[in-house]
Amino acid sequence: MGLTREELVEYFAQMGEPRYRADQVFRGLYQRRLRSFEEMTDLPKALRERLSQAASASKLTVESSFTSVDGTRRVLMRTGDGHPVETVFIPSEGRDTICFSSQSGCPLKCDFCLTAKLGLLRNLTPGEIIEQIVVVLNDVYGVGGETPHGTNLVAMGEGEPFLNFENLIKSLQIMSDEEGLHIVPGRVTVSTAGIVPKIYEFAKLERRPNLAISLSAANDKLRDKLMPINRRWPISDLMKAAKAFERTLKRGERFTFEYVLLGGVNDSDRDAAELAAMIREHRLNKVKVNLIPHNPAEQLDYFPSEPEQVKRFKAALEAEGISAYVRTPRGRDIYAACGQLAAKSVAVASIAAGIVAEPAGI
Ligand code: SAH
Repeated sequence: MGLTREELVEYFAQMGEPRYRADQVFRGLYQRRLRSFEEMTDLPKALRERLSQAASASKLTVESSFTSVDGTRRVLMRTGDGHPVETVFIPSEGRDTICFSSQSGCPLKCDFCLTAKLGLLRNLTPGEIIEQIVVVLNDVYGVGGETPHGTNLVAMGEGEPFLNFENLIKSLQIMSDEEGLHIVPGRVTVSTAGIVPKIYEFAKLERRPNLAISLSAANDKLRDKLMPINRRWPISDLMKAAKAFERTLKRGERFTFEYVLLGGVNDSDRDAAELAAMIREHRLNKVKVNLIPHNPAEQLDYFPSEPEQVKRFKAALEAEGISAYVRTPRGRDIYAACGQLAAKSVAVASIAAGIVAEPAGI
């Protein structure tokens, strides 16, 4: 688990096995989505036993799986050394989305995010990143079952993907293989809180996924407070990197700014005007803005914006010619929505605390 097809071929060559065995195992892991060598009955029994001793077809154990009233599912897994890994399946009519984790916990201290409270436990390996998708697809469609809509992937679970850059890129490379999961980069979005040097590095990749940058404030004073990573790479540096990335986009391609709307904190008409001015000042004309209503939790001191204010904020951006969308909260009742992943072993979030599954009415 976690080797590219070429690396598997090399591995089998060293075992003195023919190349087609590597292809069989690769398809076993990623097309048939088997999580043990014993189940790969197209391999001779002796080889299965040798592999079971020498290698690993599975790195994660599933601890629990929760289903929201809106159909969203959250799967809580553990690494071999006991760290939590969370993955969310978000069904939708067109295409399903899987939101996966790049790290267990997160080192960034975004003030409005529950995952921040875990701190960083550790980076996930390429195998652990990919297995999340295998486990969730099996959970929803049965082992090896067809995925009727295909799947979009978003690196928006626990962790900061650009602080685990190499493992992330390797896992995406393996997931794009047509002999395996075949999830091509165009169907993948990586979200960063703004690790500026990695945005430049990402921009240079030849086959790369889509990019989303979590912004949530358009001035340094507020962003320093909400997202302390801003003290290292302030908005002007981040905008330069965003512009450099934008220049590498092809015709029709866009990238995203995510903006978590926090009631009374960053959602005023003035905040919207400031955001629009910032986008114009840096001549970003291939950016769209995803407005994310804040998902509350008991330990967070923030509240969602009034639905009316969300509408005004969106309209203010649109009036300046900027595309803006409001993300519908999904899975709030099972701690599966954005910023709610904190390895909770409970199924139902507290309704009394205002944590309900219903969309914000927008
Ligand atoms: N670390 C990366 C990947 C996580 S993506 C990043 O920050 O981009 C998770 C998204 O959810 C980010 O855009 C983050 O700003 C947002 N988010 C965090 N806490 C939230 C909350 N409580 N409600 C809504 N969105 C939240």
